[in-house]
Amino acid sequence: MVCSYCFQFIGSVELQIGRKLYLQDLGVSAVDGCGSSDEAGCSVSSEKVGLPQDAIQSLMNGGLKLPYSDNFSLPAVVPCAGACEEAYYCSKSCAEADWDSFHSLLCTGQQSSVSNTKALMKFTKHANETNDIFILAAKVISFTILRYRKLKASHLEQKGKHKSSNCCNSYNFPLLLEAWKPVSMGFKKRWWDCIALPEDVESCDEVDFRMQIKDLAFESLQLLKEAIYDEECAPLFSLDIYGHIIGMFELNNLDLVVASPIEDYFLYIDDLPCSQKKEAEKITKPFLDALGEDYSIPCQGTAFFPVQSCMNHSCNPNAKAFKREEDRDGQASIIALRRILKGEEITISYIDEDRPYAERQELLADYGFRCGCPRCIEEQP
Ligand SMILES: [Zn+2]
Ligand SMILES: [Zn+2]
Ligand SMILES: [Zn+2]
Repeated sequence: MVCSYCFQFIGSVELQIGRKLYLQDLGVSAVDGCGSSDEAGCSVSSEKVGLPQDAIQSLMNGGLKLPYSDNFSLPAVVPCAGACEEAYYCSKSCAEADWDSFHSLLCTGQQSSVSNTKALMKFTKHANETNDIFILAAKVISFTILRYRKLKASHLEQKGKHKSSNCCNSYNFPLLLEAWKPVSMGFKKRWWDCIALPEDVESCDEVDFRMQIKDLAFESLQLLKEAIYDEECAPLFSLDIYGHIIGMFELNNLDLVVASPIEDYFLYIDDLPCSQKKEAEKITKPFLDALGEDYSIPCQGTAFFPVQSCMNHSCNPNAKAFKREEDRDGQASIIALRRILKGEEITISYIDEDRPYAERQELLADYGFRCGCPRCIEEQP
């Protein structure tokens, strides 16, 4: 379980392990054909895991404390103020920042200010079943609407001070453009134009494939409109813009990895002096066995970093988008690979730049361009 805003792990090692086992269980039981959402009593899965449900429950509700877990303290869980039971945070400040920037328009909780939470749930369900990139796109739209409202509020306040007569114009396009600015940096191509053709699609079916992708985006957009449409931000809800936002994620995403404290915990137990280890393992071993390979899986996701996304590619880049193994949250850094002169463009590599010329060009074709960087010009056959 990670903070919905900064992506660092929260709760306790017990909660992390319990949730992982619980979700593992859900996955198994869905395959076994008891795929209702209330899975707690499903016995098929617990046979496979070899752990009784109440052991998992007591990990999650704090009833069971694992040895040495105090050495792995994590921030306490702060629930969403809208009570959606989907978003959780490491701190009040993350909860408020998320609410202000994204979540107040996307919260499905009882206390949410969203008028149509049912439609919002339908949108989310559709995204989960088809492509979760739609959820990121919804975040971008929500972010822009909220920014627009803030800009407009401060604009009206300014105007009010000057006692201007026509302060009530409801639709303010320049402000919408201003709100959109941070996003526009990543704006390149429509999703259905830039998505790479999957290997199992023949090139003669390409047109159909792209059409299907466009239809899927249309479907998702209709659901989102039903949920959070704002007349003043109408241009944000056009299929063209939606396609561009999704295209931005298709082209600019960076895999986000945050190392899991679960792995650290079991490595710590393994490193204990022999007698202590034996004692601890009496309790921890069944959980480790139940987790199997999953114990070392980090938090994985796709992130969009506006600054990084406006950096151009070079096969001999002077910087690197860096996500360190030991990172504890969702921050990314750009690291210089050599001295960069004042005024020199900062470039990163979108691909594995150690590959030969032809392979590089092939990979970059997915990003929609042929590379003409100095190195490519030199190596060109
Ligand atoms: Zn946080
Ligand atoms: Zn919420
Ligand atoms: Zn190149």
